[in-house]
Amino acid sequence: MSEIQDNLPQTTAPAGPAAKTDEEWRRELTPEEFHVLRRAGTERPYTGEYWDTHQEGVYACRACGAELFTSAEKFDSHCGWPSFWAPLAEGSVRYLHDNTLGMRRIEVRCASCDSHLGHVFEGEGYPTPTDQRFCINSISLRLRPAREQDAGDPNAGNQTAKDQPTGA
Ligand SMILES: [Zn+2]
Repeated sequence: MSEIQDNLPQTTAPAGPAAKTDEEWRRELTPEEFHVLRRAGTERPYTGEYWDTHQEGVYACRACGAELFTSAEKFDSHCGWPSFWAPLAEGSVRYLHDNTLGMRRIEVRCASCDSHLGHVFEGEGYPTPTDQRFCINSISLRLRPAREQDAGDPNAGNQTAKDQPTGA
């Protein structure tokens, strides 16, 4: 009797603007993104775009844009996936017990859109404040570099003298 499930249970999808049908997700995501985010797939280690990234910024959910992790909690776990010792905030992710294949793992999903992100492991001995490893697929994330906020108006500094309001 196989207990392996290919489909995420539909009943756990949150109601609200982030709740979308598979049809809608398929239109918005690439097949690779869909497979990981909506089918709890796993990208191959050392192949994702962020496993070895040290750039400062915020990692947002690739499906819905919710901010999930920051570079401040990212650490080098050498496991081949981006690893964080904590989420950006409690409540930004949700946890599900995943006992597929006889492994007791905790699945991590985006709390906003219920997309699959990866798994969290504990007590592995990493020298981090929590000794947790949020092992997250690069393809589930999109890095928003910290510098981006500065790259706004090219005319900044071209200051026009502002008159005091005359009260007329
Ligand atoms: Zn999301």
